[in-house]
Amino acid sequence: IIASYNQDEDNINVVVRVRPLSDKEIKAGDDMVVQFPGNGQVMVDAIPGGPGGGQKARLFSYNVVFEPAATQEDVLQYSGMKRLIEMAVEGFRCTCFCYGQTGSGKTHTLTGPPGLFGIKAVPYSDDHGLVFRSFVYLFQLLQEHTGRTFVLKASFLEIYNEKVIDLLNPGTCRKPLAVRWSKKARGFFVENLFTVDCEELDDLMAVLEEGIRNRSVGRHNMNDYSSRSHTILSVHITSEEPSENGVFISRFGKINFVDLAGSEMTKKTQSEGKTLEEANNINKSLMVLGYCIASLSDPKRKGTHIPYRDSKLTKLLADSLAGNGVTLMIACISPARSNIFETINTLRYAARAKKI
Ligand code: ADP
Ligand code: MG
Repeated sequence: IIASYNQDEDNINVVVRVRPLSDKEIKAGDDMVVQFPGNGQVMVDAIPGGPGGGQKARLFSYNVVFEPAATQEDVLQYSGMKRLIEMAVEGFRCTCFCYGQTGSGKTHTLTGPPGLFGIKAVPYSDDHGLVFRSFVYLFQLLQEHTGRTFVLKASFLEIYNEKVIDLLNPGTCRKPLAVRWSKKARGFFVENLFTVDCEELDDLMAVLEEGIRNRSVGRHNMNDYSSRSHTILSVHITSEEPSENGVFISRFGKINFVDLAGSEMTKKTQSEGKTLEEANNINKSLMVLGYCIASLSDPKRKGTHIPYRDSKLTKLLADSLAGNGVTLMIACISPARSNIFETINTLRYAARAKKI
């Protein structure tokens, strides 16, 4: 078994992906602490009692659980991602994001291993991630809708310490952009954000590749930096279709792919100075995001105040989180004993996002 399910047609899907143990972990004698009872469940081993007392084994339930042997293609096929793309083509705002501690597989799941896009990305390998596969599926869908004309636009930004940075425009690359609200834009938008017209699959691929390259430019320690920033790659899908009485039907859909900052940052509040400010900002945006998502699936919270305005991340995702679309959360975890506390934190965050 590579994945087990509990699938539904809700506006929020929560799935878990467990990466394999790394060579380093195996060498260090680290062992697996997660098990897969099936039916969308993950079980985490008990933590033996010490001076502070132990913890019992715990069972968590989600829509889908991907075991370490699951492939990148399995994630496209069984996560519910295809439904997000189909809905975006029909005019809904959809968001897919990866949550988890640094090293848990967020970037691997979304884009694949580093260096994959340094070369021309075609023909594509087993390692190519969900974003690439979604682009391929999107273009398949567009070709099936022969009666419509489509316009695709893409943007790619980074939120670092509550500053928005354009990953597609090297000129302004390191200059923060303003987030504003407008009626015309139907919500929050980033002022002067570069958006690229994409006519072909290759154009979308170029956006992905360029953004990844700019993300790592001038960084001494890429992993350290990427653990502190969120990235959002957005594809806007506008279409027009002639109807019977000569009136055109217009649709404005969108897909966001979000690679979140490492969730372990929320604990690092003992650190000082700049790092503390960063940790607080990350802490806040992940908390607000969790709260917004939980309110999506909880009918009791409908109509109550949802604090989208409290972080740049949730401002920019507000249109899709507000319920006009589908959200897919991929919680990434390490199976290793040395990560058990962060793993439990991630599984809890994901379980709060949706009660199964
Ligand atoms: P994150 O973005 O969450 O910090 P990464 O995606 O960079 O984590 O993954 C950390 C390391 O683990 C990378 O070397 C990556 O290639 C590897 N890895 C992650 N997920 C998988 C997987 N499902 N299969 C194989 N290797 C993986
Ligand atoms: Mg990463």
